[in-house]
Amino acid sequence: MVRIRPNIQRLRGYIPGKQPAGDGWIKLNTNESPAASPAALQALAELDADLLRRYPDPTSAPLRERLADVYGLTPEQVIVGNGADDIINILIRAICDPEDTVVTTNPAYALYPILAGIQGVAVNAIPLGPGFSLPLAELQHAPGALTFITNPNNPAGTLYPPAQIAKLAAAGPNLVAVDEAYAEFADSNCLDLLTESDNLCIIRTFSKSYGLAGLRVGYLLGPPDLVAALLKIKDSYNVNRVAQMAALAALGDGDWAESMWADVRERRQKLAGDLADLGLTVHPSGANFLLVDFGNASAVAVQAALEKRRILVRHLGGSSDTENCLRITIGSADEMQRLLGSIKECLDT
Ligand code: PMP
Repeated sequence: MVRIRPNIQRLRGYIPGKQPAGDGWIKLNTNESPAASPAALQALAELDADLLRRYPDPTSAPLRERLADVYGLTPEQVIVGNGADDIINILIRAICDPEDTVVTTNPAYALYPILAGIQGVAVNAIPLGPGFSLPLAELQHAPGALTFITNPNNPAGTLYPPAQIAKLAAAGPNLVAVDEAYAEFADSNCLDLLTESDNLCIIRTFSKSYGLAGLRVGYLLGPPDLVAALLKIKDSYNVNRVAQMAALAALGDGDWAESMWADVRERRQKLAGDLADLGLTVHPSGANFLLVDFGNASAVAVQAALEKRRILVRHLGGSSDTENCLRITIGSADEMQRLLGSIKECLDT
């Protein structure tokens, strides 16, 4: 028998949302964007495939420099990863000893406890307050090494004001990692806090903001000493050449991205109104998805009925407040129309 580390034996691996093969699905279960950056697609079409013989730039230097420019930082404050997931992983590995604790909220992005568990690190997931509010007092006093705040929250969509995050960072000693995977769809973000605090970092991704989830590019903005430590432990070539190139091209077309974010926000507002008109409770969202409470109807039954109609949405239990909810990604206008019609049918039957 192979000897597996006991904490890995106990671990329940991450269960990603369904990625169905074939066409004809309306995929609203993993918060992908309805369109990919045309500039990135153009760069991919023009790819000099012969370059694939060569390893990529180990630190994604051109992309790092461009990101630093975009945010008014230095490249030493930026590290690029194979998706934000890679960043979260190396952050836990750099910060936490086995006897340390990762602090987060419940609900929050479900991958933190799993990546912490792989390192044998304990997790203290503090329940969110009423209306998915941030339990600031508990978070400030929670012993640990690293605190993850998903902002906007996933799956709730709740946006936390920078002032609350600033309080958390000021309280210390935990490093506060603000996971801003969805920040481009929100009205505020914590970028300004980077200059105020050396105890805070921000995680972002191209998966949602540029519609490039399949490429796997994420990044962290933070203090240079943190970035230097993360660079030491990342995989030598953690971001492939094609991904670096396409992400760099995507940054060259900020106007397209801004208009995609605005479209998503507009459709989010419309869908929230339409679902509320059906008598459903829609939680306020700063992200590219809505968390919808189905009240007297069964969320799980609605999810199954939608799946029969080839529409995928996500049920993420794990907290009593989300148990009868579905998380629905904002897709194209046509997808939203079909979703709404199908939800109506499900509720009527
Ligand atoms: N953080 C949050 C809050 C997310 O929802 C996701 C995507 N599911 C990620 C990070 C991971 O993003 P990426 O695709 O860049 O790994």
